[in-house]
Amino acid sequence: MQLPILIIGQGLAGTLLSFELYQQRVPFLVLDDGFTTSASVVASGVMNPVTGRQAHVTWEVDLFFAKALETYQALESFLGVALVKKTPIISCPNNPEMRLAYDKQLTDGSKYIHAVEEPFTYLHQPFGKVAIQPSYLINVHSLLYSWRQFLQQQHLLQTAVFNEELLEFHEDKLQYQGQNFGRVIYANGAAAATSSYWQNLPFALNKGEALLLDIPALAKDYLYKSGIFSVVPWQNQQWWVGSSYDNHFTTPLPTQAFAKQKLSQLANFITLPATQTAHVAAIRPSTVDRKPMIGFHPKWNLLGLFNGLGTKGVSMAPALATSFVQNILHGTPLKVPNAQLERFHKILNR
Ligand SMILES: Cc1cc2nc3c(=O)[nH]c(=O)nc-3n(C[C@H](O)[C@H](O)[C@H](O)COP(=O)(O)OP(=O)(O)OC[C@H]3O[C@@H](n4cnc5c(N)ncnc54)[C@H](O)[C@@H]3O)c2cc1C
Repeated sequence: MQLPILIIGQGLAGTLLSFELYQQRVPFLVLDDGFTTSASVVASGVMNPVTGRQAHVTWEVDLFFAKALETYQALESFLGVALVKKTPIISCPNNPEMRLAYDKQLTDGSKYIHAVEEPFTYLHQPFGKVAIQPSYLINVHSLLYSWRQFLQQQHLLQTAVFNEELLEFHEDKLQYQGQNFGRVIYANGAAAATSSYWQNLPFALNKGEALLLDIPALAKDYLYKSGIFSVVPWQNQQWWVGSSYDNHFTTPLPTQAFAKQKLSQLANFITLPATQTAHVAAIRPSTVDRKPMIGFHPKWNLLGLFNGLGTKGVSMAPALATSFVQNILHGTPLKVPNAQLERFHKILNR
């Protein structure tokens, strides 16, 4: 009988990996501590096809977006919850250089950047605005909680803290708390950086914060950006306002400085009344080369890693999960270039 795979973590990585294994009828168990340190539960869920000051098309956008839409729509039907919404981004450049970059993209006939006729009078737009589309909002919150509920009903998830010191290695299997597993896959986000098996990898952990607000008069059909400042439709008619990209954080918790800065930026960008209801923060599992790290440990070959989703986990996780499962089942090389853990085998062999 095939031994189950133990997946540590049920963020986007663990959710998409377990969904793929479920579809392929591969036995598994997910262990998650209840989203204690989850980046996924605080993510705004945006799939934005352009990035950076020059508004360049994001890495492997065609591959990632097509697979992500197919998978989230399949999950939508499977779980009976709305997950995918096509939502144009109304982006207001906050400096002349960014305006020039958008103008260049408009002149070059960009597939994703378009002129906007509507006035959007409630937006402060000294350098005008463009629409970025097609772009999508994924309801990550509903996805995580609905998939968790399904896994619990199927007895495929345990809510517990994984302690790697209790992992026992045998020739062709691993044992954890008396249960046998064929493999153990770490999908535990930023926490992998403290694992004795993975800590030498080039993580570049990155903290992000967001405020949740009520802005009743703001039109929900769009999400709004000014530079890297985003205002995104969220759960229960609220708005998600963020974020920050902090590589030198001293606390994983929300900070007053962030709240003060974002409320002031919001007041300068949107001239509508807003009331803060919550403040969240989490650590993104980013890497120095900004690419995922997926594969098996060269020394402990039954230990796998599904990590490095960084700032783009929503669009990348589905294609990566499918490709990783093909690798596990058939040894097929990962389809996504530069995402293979093999590039760090030397470091892991030390
Ligand atoms: C503020 C913010 C906004 C973001 N917005 C976007 C966005 O709009 N679009 C986008 O694509 N990406 C966004 N991201 C990035 C995205 O959230 C990440 O790429 C993604 O969530 C990483 O998923 P993961 O499953 O690897 O990690 P996580 O979501 O962190 O999941 C890891 C899970 O493992 C659990 N865990 C950890 N240690 C243990 C243990 N010992 N035992 C048991 N369980 C454990 C954690 O509690 C968690 O549930 C955002 C991130 C932040 C912080």
